[in-house]
Amino acid sequence: PTSNTPSPFAEAYSTLKNTFGYDQFRLQQEQVISSALDGKDALVIMPTGGGKSLCFQIPALVQGGACLVISPLISLMKDQVEALKQNGVSAAFLNSSITAVQQQQVEEDFMAGQIKLLYVSPEKLMTRDFFNVMKASTLNLIAVDEAHCISQWGHDFRPEYTKLKFLKEQFPSTPIMALTATADKATRNDILSQLNITQAKTFLSSFDRPNLSLAVRPAQKRVEAIIDWVKNQPEESGIIYCLSRKSTETLAIKLQKQGIDADFYHAGMDPQVKDKVQERFIRDDLKIVCATIAFGMGIDKSNVRWVIHHNLPKNLESYYQEIGRAGRDGLASKTLLFYSYSDVMQLKQFIETGEQKELLEAKLQRMQQFAEATSCRRKLLLSYFGEQLEKDCGNCDICRNPPAFMDGLKLAQMALSAVARTQQKIGTRMLIDVLRGSGRNDLFQLGYQNIKTYGVGKDHSYVDWQHYIGQFLNLGLLEIAFDQHNALRITELGKKALYSEIEVKISKPESQEERKQRLTPP
Ligand code: ADP
Ligand code: ZN
Repeated sequence: PTSNTPSPFAEAYSTLKNTFGYDQFRLQQEQVISSALDGKDALVIMPTGGGKSLCFQIPALVQGGACLVISPLISLMKDQVEALKQNGVSAAFLNSSITAVQQQQVEEDFMAGQIKLLYVSPEKLMTRDFFNVMKASTLNLIAVDEAHCISQWGHDFRPEYTKLKFLKEQFPSTPIMALTATADKATRNDILSQLNITQAKTFLSSFDRPNLSLAVRPAQKRVEAIIDWVKNQPEESGIIYCLSRKSTETLAIKLQKQGIDADFYHAGMDPQVKDKVQERFIRDDLKIVCATIAFGMGIDKSNVRWVIHHNLPKNLESYYQEIGRAGRDGLASKTLLFYSYSDVMQLKQFIETGEQKELLEAKLQRMQQFAEATSCRRKLLLSYFGEQLEKDCGNCDICRNPPAFMDGLKLAQMALSAVARTQQKIGTRMLIDVLRGSGRNDLFQLGYQNIKTYGVGKDHSYVDWQHYIGQFLNLGLLEIAFDQHNALRITELGKKALYSEIEVKISKPESQEERKQRLTPP
C-alpha cells in the first residue's frame, strides 16, 4: 500500500471515534482488532461489560465483506442490532423471533452485500438454507459470542454449539473470533478444540474491578440488614439477587413496606411487566430491583452503585458476573454477599438431580470457600480466573477488617458431645436448643433435658451458636446426613476434636455493634 492509503488500523481508530463515539480502546480491544485485521483466529476473554462487541464490530466495518456473529441469546441480538443501527451501521439478525418472509429478506440483503454485521442463532446457522447463504456471501470474520456455551465444562452448555466445527472446515480462510467472559482453563481449551482453532491466540484481559468493594456477611437477619443498607444510601441504585422467584417478590414487598423504591423481576413474569421493570430501572425511575439471575443479561446501566446477593450464587462465575453489573462507570461501588450454610445445602440439592454432578459440586465448593475466606477475597476471586494479584486489595471486608480467631475446641466439644448423646438424630436447631437449655416441648418429650450437655452453652446466643456450628461443618468436624432428615453426624475428624487430639481454630462471631458498623457504608 502507498503511504496515503490509511492503514486498516488507522481506520479502526477513526471508526471507534466516528461510529461509536469513543476516544480510546479499552483493555485489549486494540490488540484483538489488529489480530482480526491480520486474518488470525482469536479467543477473547474479557469480563462482562469489558467491551467484547467492539472487538468484532470494528473489524467488520473497516474491511470489505461482512461479519457473521453467532449468538445464543435472542434478546441480546436484538439489542445489539438496534444499537448498531442507531450508530448508522447496517446490521440485522436471523432467529426464530422473526417471520420466514422477514428472514428471506435479510438473507437477500446479506448476499447482496448490504449488511455489515449479521447476527444468527446457532439453530439458524445449522440449516442447509443458511449454509448456502454463507457460501454466497463474502465473510471477513466469524464471531462466536458467548463461546463458553460450547463447553461441557462451562455453566451454560448449549448442545447446538458443539456443531460449530464445520465453520473452520468450510471457511478455512475466514478468521474466527471466539468471545467469552468465562476464563477457566478447561473451558478455554474446550473452545479452542471444538472450534478447531487450536493455533488461535488467546487475549485475556484483566478481570480485576478495583472499584468494586467486596464483602460477605452471615445471612442471619439479612432483611433487616438490607433495609439498613438501603436507608443509609437512599439515593443509590442497586440490584438484590435472590435464589428463588418467590423470594424476589417477598423481599421487594418487605422493602416497599419500609417506603423503599423497590420492585421485583424474574423469568416467571409476564414479559411486558418484566420489560417495564427493566426499563424503569434503566431510566432511573426505579431504584432497586430484587431479581433472580434472569435479570441483568445485556443490561447496560452504568450507575448501579451496589449489588447484594441475598443468597449464595452457585459458582464464582455467576457471582463475578452479577457483581460486575455494579460500577460500570468506574466509580466506587459496593457489593455484599449474604452467606448461609442452608443455601449451600439447597444448591447442592439442585445439583443432585442434574448432570455433571462432580464438576458443579466442585464449583459450588469454591464459591463456599470464597464466602468463608479469611484472607483477601479479591485475591481468591482473581486466582479463580487465572490471575494473580501481588498485594492484598485493601478493598474487601477481610483486608479492611481481618477476622479475629478464637480457640473453638471447648465449644466444639460441647456441640459434638451433645450430638453423640442424642444418638446423632438431631439437626442444628435442636442441637442449639439442647446446648442452650431450651424448654421446648418436644425436647422434653425426647428426654434431652437429662443429657449431660443440656444447657452447657447457655452463655452464647442462638446466633453465635449458628455461627460456631457453621464453622464446625466447614472444618469437617460435623457433617449433615441428607439421608437422615439432615441430622448432624460426627466425622472422624470430629472424634479427634472430642478427644482433644486436634486444634480447632474458628473466627469470632460478630457482635451486634460490629455488624452494624460493617453494614454502614463507608
Ligand atoms: P461485553 O460484551 O464485553 O459485556 P459490551 O461490548 O456490551 O461488553 O460493552 C459494554 C459497554 O462498554 C457498552 O456500553 C460499550 O458501548 C462500552 N464500550 C465498549 N468499548 C468501549 C471503549 N473503548 N470506550 C468506552 N466505552 C466502551
Ligand atoms: Zn482484599
